[in-house]
Amino acid sequence: MADAARYHRLQLSLTLLGLGLSIAYLVALVATGGGNALASLVARLASARWIQVASMALALGAGHAALTLPLTLVRGFWLPRRFGLLHQPLRGWLGDRLKAALIGGALGLAAVEVVYALLALTEHWWLAAAAVFIAAEIAMAAVLPIWIVPLFYRLTPLADGSLRDRLLALARRAGVAAVGVFVADQSRKSRTANAAVVGLGRTRRIILFDTLLAEFSPDQIESVLAHELGHHVHGDMRRGLLVNGALTLLTAWLAARGLDLGVALLGLAGPGDPAGLPWLALVALALGLVQLPLTNGYSRWIERQADDFALATTGNAAAFVGAMERLAGLNLAERRPSRLKEIFLYSHPALDRRIARAESARGGVA
Ligand SMILES: [Zn+2]
Repeated sequence: MADAARYHRLQLSLTLLGLGLSIAYLVALVATGGGNALASLVARLASARWIQVASMALALGAGHAALTLPLTLVRGFWLPRRFGLLHQPLRGWLGDRLKAALIGGALGLAAVEVVYALLALTEHWWLAAAAVFIAAEIAMAAVLPIWIVPLFYRLTPLADGSLRDRLLALARRAGVAAVGVFVADQSRKSRTANAAVVGLGRTRRIILFDTLLAEFSPDQIESVLAHELGHHVHGDMRRGLLVNGALTLLTAWLAARGLDLGVALLGLAGPGDPAGLPWLALVALALGLVQLPLTNGYSRWIERQADDFALATTGNAAAFVGAMERLAGLNLAERRPSRLKEIFLYSHPALDRRIARAESARGGVA
């Protein structure tokens, strides 16, 4: 589809532009001694170390947000609206972004405070920080579906009794005990469709976007849900936390080496000097970029397994392919991105690949 190709070309250009801006912002701060200037200004205003760190982090974060705001608007609002993916009014969209920014900002600020508090305590700060981050990640995974999802969606129990029974029976067949099927009001915002199985134990529930209900046949909804159930059966949350935990540890160690390098290069008072914050952010950004192909490659691998599970559980490759085709249309998906783009940016296998795999499974069964 020409529209999809154009949309994704524009989005990729804007993503790269945004990345370039972020790097330029941090490099400029480091190269001009902006970090030192800001740190000495903050030190004159407050003597408490944690207030200095918080002020630095908030000032740097606000500067970055202001710099990238026009790009964020074009990428997240204007362009998706232009291509018919989004119909949420600007006010509602800004409200959602503000909520996300407050949650993300609070978590980010807490992370910076933890790092600088530990930096003042021990040279093994990176090990302690990684332990705190891993614990926080596990806690977030447990509460996110229950506390965070309702901040963005209104959930109502699925009214269609026969579909509900069918989906709960599928969940039972897959060995996942779910307590209910809920519908999220995505259509208020966008036409994109999805489903999820969230929560743990007694809070576990199936969530369907109302867009999925409106556009997909019951067989296709079953296929989408079976994929989500596959994630649960395979313990993907546990596996993900394990892989992320290992990466967090490695990243923290590398960040510590990067910070030591910064102390020597930039003449900081020590690794715990708040003036080093822009440098530390630059190091963290670089480490995040290097990890992209690793984390996305891992994600595509578990997504492929969830697809295989869905096909084996429903035994209905035609419905799976139908659902993929519909998702491609609704989400304006790029069906066949370049291999390089898939490696770096895709958390799921490209759509054409998922369809081809399902079709070869169908061939195998027949
Ligand atoms: Zn998945």
